[in-house]
Amino acid sequence: MTTEFIKNKITNSGLKFTHQRWVIYDALYQADSHPTADQVFEIIKLANPSLSLGTVYKTLDSFVQNGLIQKFMDQNGVMRFDAIIDAHSHLYCKETHEIRDFRNEELEKMLQNFISKQRLNDFEIEDVSIVFKGRKKQ
Ligand SMILES: [Zn+2]
Repeated sequence: MTTEFIKNKITNSGLKFTHQRWVIYDALYQADSHPTADQVFEIIKLANPSLSLGTVYKTLDSFVQNGLIQKFMDQNGVMRFDAIIDAHSHLYCKETHEIRDFRNEELEKMLQNFISKQRLNDFEIEDVSIVFKGRKKQ
């Protein structure tokens, strides 16, 4: 992942490219574990001692506002962040609370097809993400 790639991602979302945004986006993008803000902070703090936890929270929120990343609540009510914004589903391990991406074209097509047929009076469905819960096999 090049700096140029990240720079384009950030500026295309409407945000100014800054060193701290680059560091935080890069950390999230590379960790495909769907980390919490605290975990992102843990990843970057050694190499970036001037970045505070508060900045990490604020920066991740601005990424979400600008559609650069997405966030969701996990089964424990903890906010997790995901750098992948196109449609995909997740595998959630009940024991370790690990969340992995589950990409399956057939499933995503089926879901898109399903929600395109839904007619709700007061709500427009834009996308859907399924979480498959289970346990990692030993
Ligand atoms: Zn994901």
